Amino acid sequence: MIAEFTSGARDGSARAGSVRLARGEVATPGFMPVATRGTVRALPTHVLAGLRTANDAGFDLLLSNTYHLMLRPGAEAVAELGGLHAFTGWDGPMLTDSGGYQVFSLEPRVTDEGAEFASTYDGSRHLLTPELAVQVQELLGADVQMVLDVCPPLPSSREVLERAVDTTEAWARRALRARTRLGDQSLFGIVQGGVDIGLRAQAAERTVALGFDGSAIGGLSVGESRAEMLPAIEAAVAVLPEDRPRYLMGVGDPVSIVEAVARGIDLFYCVLPTRLARHGTLLTDGGRLNITRAEFARDPGPIQAGCTCPSCTHYERGLLRHLAAVDEPAAATICTIHNLWWMLQLIERIRTAIGEGRLTALRAEVAAVWDPSPPG
Ligand SMILES: [Zn+2]
Repeated sequence: MIAEFTSGARDGSARAGSVRLARGEVATPGFMPVATRGTVRALPTHVLAGLRTANDAGFDLLLSNTYHLMLRPGAEAVAELGGLHAFTGWDGPMLTDSGGYQVFSLEPRVTDEGAEFASTYDGSRHLLTPELAVQVQELLGADVQMVLDVCPPLPSSREVLERAVDTTEAWARRALRARTRLGDQSLFGIVQGGVDIGLRAQAAERTVALGFDGSAIGGLSVGESRAEMLPAIEAAVAVLPEDRPRYLMGVGDPVSIVEAVARGIDLFYCVLPTRLARHGTLLTDGGRLNITRAEFARDPGPIQAGCTCPSCTHYERGLLRHLAAVDEPAAATICTIHNLWWMLQLIERIRTAIGEGRLTALRAEVAAVWDPSPPG
């Protein structure tokens, strides 16, 4: 199913709009929380679904990790329980990754056939192929599935990057041949190419030529600087079609999000806001705040003054500091709610700025807090 992008307001190369998927519309720019093993960690799905701003903006798209679900409880078990939506209790649009990113972090044996890896659960050996990634994601049944790609770390040699682009293209062809679920599932291709501008553009052209329902830019935020990353995004976006969503994988710090939006990116995911929350680090308009610090032990204020999220409405810093200090699981939940809410607010500010032609001013505001002394 083609993931059709409808454009609304524009500001330079930035665009606001919506993407039509099998289970509904996704407003863009949009940020996806990550439901690693069926829920966002420390956050029941009905709570996530209830996070909506005064303007009724919420998280329209949820990402689930194929790697974890295929090993535990297994894609067949999820399918028997009605597919990922019924299984997780999330009835809106969902996206699954291919499992490749986790597999490649385990330093698998990569051949033309696929990637052979040892399960982090029990050490058992598995071969993830492009066909198996499709088959598993069809069983899971998300609205969007991703092709298996090769994501090299940066820096890598030109030879390694070229080989990753070649293998990614060969695997993409096999994924397209393997898919059977065309009516209610979109398949996105992935553009690799490291931070080499020419190779990125070439990889984007080769991906687009295969005719995917949407496109993603992968292989970034893997060791390079932001100054290297942004031109690579520009090179890929210049080739990607206007009428399909552009999804930037694994990039989620505030400056990179707003800068990537300015270059035409629509969709993001990143584990950073939820991972930080579990360690007591909160995102605020003034920057990061670590709630475990002793100075908050007797602080009656909310995490962030003026924040209307359920955590700031109900709890004070003193309680949260105590819960974090005694390792109470609710601390992670309360912090996760605030951090995801903060991401929603950031996305709303970006959409509003695009609508009002003020994105340049917002980029400066975000950089002033999150990147006060950019290199160069
Ligand atoms: Zn809050």
